[in-house]
Amino acid sequence: MGGQLHMGQSALCHRARSGDHINLILKLTGATCNLDCGYCFEKRRDYPSHRIISEEVVSSTLSQLSTYGLSVELHGGEPLLVGLPHFSKVLDLITSSRPDAAIRLQTNGTLISEEWCELFLCNQRLSVGVSLDGFQAGNQLRYDNRERDSTLAVLEGMSQLEKHGIDFGLIRVCSKDNIGQVTGYLDFAAVRKNVKAVRLLPCFDDGTALSANVPRTARTRRAFAAGHDLPWSISFDEFASEVMVAYDHWRGRGYFDHFLLDPAIDYLKKGLTGTCASCHFEARKCFHTITVYPDRTFSLCDELDGGERVPLTNADGVGNIADVIEGHTKMEAPLTAFLSQQCEGCEVRAHCHGGCVAIRRRAARLGRSEAYCQMQKDLFHYFALSA
Ligand code: SF4
Ligand code: SF4
Repeated sequence: MGGQLHMGQSALCHRARSGDHINLILKLTGATCNLDCGYCFEKRRDYPSHRIISEEVVSSTLSQLSTYGLSVELHGGEPLLVGLPHFSKVLDLITSSRPDAAIRLQTNGTLISEEWCELFLCNQRLSVGVSLDGFQAGNQLRYDNRERDSTLAVLEGMSQLEKHGIDFGLIRVCSKDNIGQVTGYLDFAAVRKNVKAVRLLPCFDDGTALSANVPRTARTRRAFAAGHDLPWSISFDEFASEVMVAYDHWRGRGYFDHFLLDPAIDYLKKGLTGTCASCHFEARKCFHTITVYPDRTFSLCDELDGGERVPLTNADGVGNIADVIEGHTKMEAPLTAFLSQQCEGCEVRAHCHGGCVAIRRRAARLGRSEAYCQMQKDLFHYFALSA
């Protein structure tokens, strides 16, 4: 099969080559989490039995990726649920075999304690990202397994980090429950001295379905029963406005001295310099993001719903990752010829570079491809103008 989707201009998405940088996502706990956020896509996957990633799986993955550049994201579910001793062992495996790799933890923040902070302090290469969408009403999709609000528990976790002088980032999912409230959110981030980055993520959740394999709260099941346009999902247009309003506020208040703001900076950097770290805007997309699950399987980027899962090793114990990402094993390319053709002749192609494949696949299923592209055009024009 072809290694690239290359139609007339530079490839929008190419296969990995030895030496390329790979972003590895380790699903430490699979879908296991103490929260049941309505929009959680991890809880819509098939998780037959294994709940915690083993040291052997981590070691095998690391040795298979030894010839690539590497960054590692520790995800779940809720990764801290593996417990401190196991988390520590996983971290040791990564740091001892890959002293070059940046390591990021994404946690819901509710379990951060004194002990966890001590561990974070001992691992200076680990950066911490805490998910918080807003305050109570703006965060109400992040309810726990008994349908209780999680905001206060997250704030307590943040206080622990601050007490120990640990810098962290905030991850805010922009949903119908908090759209339009981003300036208040940034004001809140600005008074927390250890917040060094805010990342706005869009909740483009229409057209997704509830998994039958993972238990969900009655509240989540009720929301899905109402139809395929989910009550929390926002439009591409709404997200574009939220990013622009956020950027104006961040810039106007001088918050750039205190914390970074994504994806505004991604659009700005790509528009100004032609490069940025986001996979959305470069050819090193989905074949450069590997997700490893506790059941000894892996897939490409976890954002791709319904993505094929492949055993970590073949019957002879030989690793499968390189074969898949370098294109020696047959796997459907996430960026299809149909999506790639849409980009030919696009006025912002050089900047957008095909955007996020996972979001585009969902948009195409719903007949909303044009709305996605309009968002990209609006944002690139906006950032080119305001630079
Ligand atoms: S699906 Fe989107 S987020 Fe994932 S690697 Fe591809 S472009 Fe990046
Ligand atoms: S805006 Fe749409 S058509 Fe243009 S490059 Fe991006 S994804 Fe392709």
